[in-house]
Amino acid sequence: MKRLKDIRTLNKEALVAAVKAANQSSYRANQIEEWMWQKGVQSFDDMTNLPKSFRDLMKRDFAFYPPKIDTVQRSSDGTIKMRFTLYDDYRIESVLIPVERDDRYTVCVSSQAGCSLNCSFCATGKMGLLRQLTTAEIVDQVRGVQAICRETYGRNITNVVYMGMGEPLLNYRQVHESIFRLTNEIGLGMSAKRITISTAGIAKMIRKLADDGIRVNLALSLHAANDEKRNKIMPINETNNLSTLMDAIKYFYTQTRNRISYEYIALRDFNDDINDAKELVKLCKYFPVRVNIIEYNPIGDGLFAASQEDKLDRFMAYLAKNDVVATLRRSRGKDIDAACGQLANN
Ligand code: SF4
Repeated sequence: MKRLKDIRTLNKEALVAAVKAANQSSYRANQIEEWMWQKGVQSFDDMTNLPKSFRDLMKRDFAFYPPKIDTVQRSSDGTIKMRFTLYDDYRIESVLIPVERDDRYTVCVSSQAGCSLNCSFCATGKMGLLRQLTTAEIVDQVRGVQAICRETYGRNITNVVYMGMGEPLLNYRQVHESIFRLTNEIGLGMSAKRITISTAGIAKMIRKLADDGIRVNLALSLHAANDEKRNKIMPINETNNLSTLMDAIKYFYTQTRNRISYEYIALRDFNDDINDAKELVKLCKYFPVRVNIIEYNPIGDGLFAASQEDKLDRFMAYLAKNDVVATLRRSRGKDIDAACGQLANN
């Protein structure tokens, strides 16, 4: 059977053309857009202000391919992981991280099925890249998690981070469009200040983000503060070294003034001694930056272990003494493999 075109991959011009081909006025395209992106419907039958004959015509050429929720896992700490099956049977994961005392409900979304970057501490990297997600598949994750968040906590989600499976800047167009849908009035109407793109560090694309005027926060998955160590755990560093990245982020900051943070997973006896802290301090001098030191979650390959507490304390104390704004992030959702670097459809 012929696979119908995904209606949610059409841009406005193509949508207007499709509507006109069905002998309807172009305002119908606006109505369809509102149904799809503002109300979040996933079938033509739900577009109740469109004539039935027109809906039937559209159904002959177009379809919806929403990700289907296949598993919901709830951690004892309140974190909820959702696994979605895509139309072609690939699976992706999203995570809801609630911080009730701050009334903060963050959804961590995937931007690709799998990932090509093969960072050595990350379970997703071991899968390789399966395919890029569409804009709708990214937005639907947010809507799916939103529904669970309302049901469980009676709250709307407050923040979105592109920190699930995949490297968002290597699926730039769809990620860009999904941000547009999340922030636009004909969409979820979120503030871009509540959205963070987390990247392993693709210098050229960080500059593009700045040039395209995208007003989101940027998080660099740093994890090592010199090139030699970073090359060992993040192969992408061989072509995007730290000095190139610092230049690109500085450019991003001067163009946008958006918030920058570094993510730094503390790996036992690899990146957690005072010399590492000294190098990290140096990387905090280029622009205002906050550092999140993240507790490591072993992924079963025995390559790394979490830092010991006393060493981590000394590391944090050194950063504080040198005026680096740093927070130690205890991992959330460890018991359901929902923590950072653990998303691999287990
Ligand atoms: S850490 Fe991020 S960029 Fe690296 S392999 Fe995992 S998903 Fe990809």
